Amino acid sequence: MERTFIAIKPDGVQRGLVGEIIGRLETKGFTLVALKLLHPSRELAEQHYAVHKERPFFSGLVDFITSGPVVAMVWQGDGVVAASRLTIGATNPLVSPPGTIRGDLGINIGRNLIHGSDAVETAQSEIALWFKEEELVSWTPTISPWLS
Ligand code: ADP
Ligand code: MG
Repeated sequence: MERTFIAIKPDGVQRGLVGEIIGRLETKGFTLVALKLLHPSRELAEQHYAVHKERPFFSGLVDFITSGPVVAMVWQGDGVVAASRLTIGATNPLVSPPGTIRGDLGINIGRNLIHGSDAVETAQSEIALWFKEEELVSWTPTISPWLS
């Protein structure tokens, strides 16, 4: 079953949106397989955003992601990588449609509340970067047969 890495960024934690954001992913029907609150190190943030290291916003982005606690999660489901990106919305909350997490809750591209892996391969490397294998919990929802 496909898995993706999703993180609630420091602005989402600071604004008290952890429950709201997790609720939207749960309601959609994805299965939570790992979750932890951590204050990311600079090294972790730089590795996570390595693909953007030449971009002008890189150091500000790393400053922001390391500015406070982040909720790191792994979610599982059919096509969860692409589907959760739709639930999350566009990178810029100002053009992210209503109904998406960023469209409903955010207004600033640099403070867009949530990260989601952009491809299956990226998801695998991000999960390995943020979690140890034993932190991932394999389970099947038994009270919601409609979701499997
Ligand atoms: P996404 O998070 O939607 O996958 P990107 O991978 O393109 O977006 O960028 C990673 C993160 O970098 C974004 O979520 C956002 O927080 C930040 N970012 C992207 N573009 C800009 C920008 N032009 N100015 C400031 N921050 C940006
Ligand atoms: Mg990205």
